[in-house]
Order: sequence, then structure tokens, then C-alpha cells
Amino acid sequence: AMISMLNSAALSTGNSLYRLDVRFQTREGGYRWVSCQGQAIRERSGYPLSIIGKIVDIQDQKSKEERLIEKSSTDAMTGALNREATEARIEKRLSDDQKGFLFLLDIDNFKEINDTRGHMIGDQILIDLVQLLKSEFRQNDVIGRLGGDEFMVFMNQTQDPQAAIQKASHILNRLAVEKAGAFSVSIGIASAPLDDAADKAMYQAKRQGKNSYFLRKPRPEDSSEKPA
Ligand code: GH3
Ligand code: MG
Repeated sequence: AMISMLNSAALSTGNSLYRLDVRFQTREGGYRWVSCQGQAIRERSGYPLSIIGKIVDIQDQKSKEERLIEKSSTDAMTGALNREATEARIEKRLSDDQKGFLFLLDIDNFKEINDTRGHMIGDQILIDLVQLLKSEFRQNDVIGRLGGDEFMVFMNQTQDPQAAIQKASHILNRLAVEKAGAFSVSIGIASAPLDDAADKAMYQAKRQGKNSYFLRKPRPEDSSEKPA
């Protein structure tokens, strides 16, 4: 496969240099990037006789690039995606026609928490919440911090409102148990791509007394609950 790849690279670029970055699976099961660079030696007719070139290990460079991309797309404090990356990733999923639910979460009375317990505790709460969200949702769901104490999750590949409700209910219960009521969140849920509906739903959850979720169904009836 490697030879035929190099062949087609050489053939397609005529006499100019070609460069082909490929990723190999290593014996240990990991991956390594290498760069194949070279030039085809041809007969006068243009028929390629051989290829001269080199294979360079570019794994370190690739890792550095990947780290930079990751750094620029995440929120430094919590490790969640930042607003731009969150919106870009969700838009990409939607344009790939993926169905799902949008969750908008906002911490309850966070100003008061900061004022009474201090900013350090406040920051730790933001970190803890992201930790919990990461453990709650699947690897390929999108989890982002929109700013301040507001977070968005795109729960991928489901159209079952019951699954979304269960998630929200589980999050509220876990916070109540694991964080011993140190803080709570209000959660708005809507069928993607209705992010303004998720926003309205979140405010509805705040209005009904916080520490609750509100699911805005496209039809017929909304549904909401506070944890036991
Ligand atoms: P509500 O229940 O209605 O959401 O009330 P709230 O007090 O949480 O009000 P709101 O969500 O509007 O306020 C968010 C507060 O979050 C305001 C700001 O002081 C605080 N905040 C924003 N970013 C940070 C941060 O990075 N660290 C800490 N500790 N606090 C932050
Ligand atoms: Mg808040």
C-alpha cells in the first residue's frame, strides 16, 4: 500500500517534489506521523524509473501542532471547549445532519457563592462541574464553556427526549449527592439546532426555582422536574 501510494504521488507531481504525510499504526497499537518527500526519476518519455527521497519522522512536530490547536480551542481553567470551538463543533455536527439535544447549564446563585465563599471556591466549582459533565456525557458529545458560569453540551446521536431528561435528572442528582448541595445548576434542553429554545428553557428552569431542568419539546408538551 505504501509503495503504491508513493507511486501515485510521484506520478501525479511530474518532475516536481512531492510530499506526503502519512500516519502509521505502530506495533504497540499507537500512531506515528511520517513525511515522505521525494522526486521521481524519469525516462525521457516521462516514464518513472525510480523514486528518490526520504522518510522523515514528524511525530514531534505533529504533536506540537495538535497541542496548539487544542490549547486555542479550550478554556484554560476548566479544560472545556471555549465558546468559539463549542459553536464551531456543534455547527459542524449539525451540518453533518447529526441529531441531538442542546443543553444550556447555568450555575445557580454563583455571584453569591463567590461573595460568600470566595473566588477560589468559585473557580473550583467551575472545574468540578466540567469534570462531572465529562464523566456524564459520551466522549463524542460536545462540552463547552460559553463564558462565566454558563455551559453548553450537545448530546449527539439521539432523538429520544427521555434520554435527555434522564441525563439532566442524573446531573442534578449527582450534584446534590456528590457535592452535598455545595452548588446546583439550572438546565435548559431543546432539540438541536434550537439554541434559543435551550436558552429560554434554561430561564424557565431558573424561574421554577432553579436546581432543575426544563425540556422544550418541539411538540406537544414541555416537561420539567426538580430532583428528589
Ligand atoms: P443565577 O442563579 O440567576 O444564574 O444567578 P447568578 O448569581 O449565578 O448570576 P449569573 O449567572 O448572572 O452570574 C454569573 C457570575 O459568575 C458572575 C461572575 O461574578 C461569576 N463568574 C464569572 N466568571 C467567573 C470565573 O471565572 N470564576 C469565578 N469564581 N466566578 C466567575
Ligand atoms: Mg448563574
